[in-house]
Amino acid sequence: MTPARLRRERRTMAAMIDLYCCEKHGCCHGPGRSCGPCGELLAYALARLSHCPFGRHKPTCSRCPIHCYRPEWRERVREVMRFAGPRLLLHRPLLALTHLLDGLRPKNP
Ligand code: SF4
Ligand SMILES: [Zn+2]
Repeated sequence: MTPARLRRERRTMAAMIDLYCCEKHGCCHGPGRSCGPCGELLAYALARLSHCPFGRHKPTCSRCPIHCYRPEWRERVREVMRFAGPRLLLHRPLLALTHLLDGLRPKNP
């Protein structure tokens, strides 16, 4: 993964968790200032991203054939994505669009 893509993926994840936390938990203090459980989820997701084995062929996590998250975290992040994914288009259209485009890349050869 290029440094630019990694930065973008990190920003996208942070923005989605931020949106989710604001709407669901009332923590609307801005990026990186979510409630405790959402902060833990973000830290976990960012650590997974940093260790992604696909390198520059990384798919979006939602299309990943192995999904490296542990089951309990995977369910939590899915809930966040389901909720925040569509809303991201409204709040952060550029991030949402580039994430959609990343999802169209061919899978890891
Ligand atoms: S879920 Fe897949 S694409 Fe996402 S970080 Fe883990 S291995 Fe990489
Ligand atoms: Zn929260």
